[in-house]
Amino acid sequence: MSDFEAKMKSPKGIEPERWFTEMYRKHQGHPLRTLIALYKGNYHKFLLAVVFFTLKHCCVWVLPIVTANIINDISVKNPNTVRNIVFYTLLMIFLIGLNIPMNYRYVDYKSQATRYAETGLRKALIRKLQQLSIRFHVETQSGRLQSKIMRDVEAVEGLSTQLFLSTLNIVLNISIALAVTITKSWVVFLFFLVTTPIAAITMVSFRTKMKRRNYEFRKEMEETSARVMEMVELIPVTRAHALEEEEVEKMSRQLFTAAEKGYRLDLIQALFGSVGWAAFQVFQIICLAFTGYLAFKGDILAGDITLYQSYFASIVNQVSAIITLVPTITKGIESVNSIGEVLLSEDVEENEGKRPIETVEGHFEFKDVYFSYHDGEKDILQGLNLEVKQGETIALVGESGAGKSTILNMIIGFYLADRGKVLLDGQDLREIDLRTYRKYLAVVPQTSILFSGTIRDNIIYGCENVTEEQLQEVLRAANLKEFVDSLPKGLDTLVGEHGGRLSGGQRQRISIARALIRDPRIIVLDEATSALDSISEKLIQSAVNNLTAGRTTFIVAHRLSTIRDADKIAVIGDGRCVEYGTYEELMERKGAFYKLKKMQT
Ligand code: ADP
Repeated sequence: MSDFEAKMKSPKGIEPERWFTEMYRKHQGHPLRTLIALYKGNYHKFLLAVVFFTLKHCCVWVLPIVTANIINDISVKNPNTVRNIVFYTLLMIFLIGLNIPMNYRYVDYKSQATRYAETGLRKALIRKLQQLSIRFHVETQSGRLQSKIMRDVEAVEGLSTQLFLSTLNIVLNISIALAVTITKSWVVFLFFLVTTPIAAITMVSFRTKMKRRNYEFRKEMEETSARVMEMVELIPVTRAHALEEEEVEKMSRQLFTAAEKGYRLDLIQALFGSVGWAAFQVFQIICLAFTGYLAFKGDILAGDITLYQSYFASIVNQVSAIITLVPTITKGIESVNSIGEVLLSEDVEENEGKRPIETVEGHFEFKDVYFSYHDGEKDILQGLNLEVKQGETIALVGESGAGKSTILNMIIGFYLADRGKVLLDGQDLREIDLRTYRKYLAVVPQTSILFSGTIRDNIIYGCENVTEEQLQEVLRAANLKEFVDSLPKGLDTLVGEHGGRLSGGQRQRISIARALIRDPRIIVLDEATSALDSISEKLIQSAVNNLTAGRTTFIVAHRLSTIRDADKIAVIGDGRCVEYGTYEELMERKGAFYKLKKMQT
């Protein structure tokens, strides 16, 4: 554990991620309360941050007083003026110098607290994503989840920092300015009280006029970047069809639309921005005139004019800061809620408390299984009965959409039967801890899913203590040995993002090797539909045969070779098993399978 990790403590020694989920649950529906609760156990860090912030900011509050005092000394011809100037100068240099270490410490404590929340939230989200059901993931766009983990968490961190910093700034600046004013002059205090809100509201109202244009421009830029992404992805297709000019033309229209929005924003900014600024200056001048008049009458000293000028500016700025803070808060709160949607989602795979599995033989039975993806929708499986004995290979065939992949998903336990039972060695899948069962299961999906890394990483994924001999054995069985040996870096060759540097057949064999190394009892294999040349097909088929030997295997089969080699074939249709038997039996019967075969050839 790094030093920084050790600094991140949550109350009662609970890991931050679990603590955060607990806080979300406890303060459900109250985003601000949730936000504050996320920092429990770190409040003292904020308190220390306040102390250091006050110290670092001292010079700003003291400077107007010092300036006023020096001018006053000069104007009343105080005999100690020179001595005072030296004293004030040294004091100010000290206070300004103090700013550097104090600011450092302030950021240190504030950042420890906010980064802790940021990391903890991300980790909580990541853990939750690993627990949520496959149904949830199928139905949620991955881009949305990514934006929750990155953008929303960032917005929450931004909200915390902004809220903390602004509240601190506002409270300290206003109270110090008002306190100094009230001790010096009641009249000026009242003047501030009346004019500040008017000045602040005038400034803000002009600034918000720019907001809509700003929003329009931002939307247009988002649209542009989405279009650029799409255009880049489409480049191979565009070029293949010689549509370059059309694409450039299309993009150029988008670019000009965005540019026009930007141009309008510039103009409105020029107008309202300067009107807001001018309003503020006018109020400053009014303040100057008012305090100047008071000084002329002798109610206040001449030097105090500059003091009130600085404080008035600071108060007006802080009040308008409160008003402009509202959108940041709204956005931050939206993000707090958006994170909550995931953290509080109930759609998790329930394994806790269920019976763990010690050994798996690999005998499967579907007993009158009914299943639909959503309540009230048509049943995809309608009373499926199917038995697969230990070590048998069964090929599932049938028209597209018949429900073959659905059956595979039920074997993995991604979806459970609505009615009827799926039994593994006589035990209902609904009653066992699926995580313990899946240790005996290997899945070879239709499209091989590789991650960026080496071939070795991709094969041993998640398996520890794999010896070099085992690895070589697996390479041989998956028909990868020759290919890997031909590579200069062998097993340590990088596969590129999603295995982009490998051919389809090579990726499939790596997928098969990944299954082999786990030495599973049960195999779920969704055959790739893409046509392969006969050499690739042979290499893959013999790898598949090595994989399935002696293991219970479910294959969604498209290739004649796999269907022939299977022990049994089940034809799926109308959500049921409509025909069942060996290849020869089914061909002889001249029923559904025979018809399917004839259609394919
Ligand atoms: P096969 O593998 O035989 O082609 P599937 O099992 O993929 O068939 O699909 C069976 C039926 O279930 C199809 O009608 C398909 O549209 C539907 N289906 C598949 N997945 C989902 C899902 N996640 N949500 C809703 N319907 C689905």
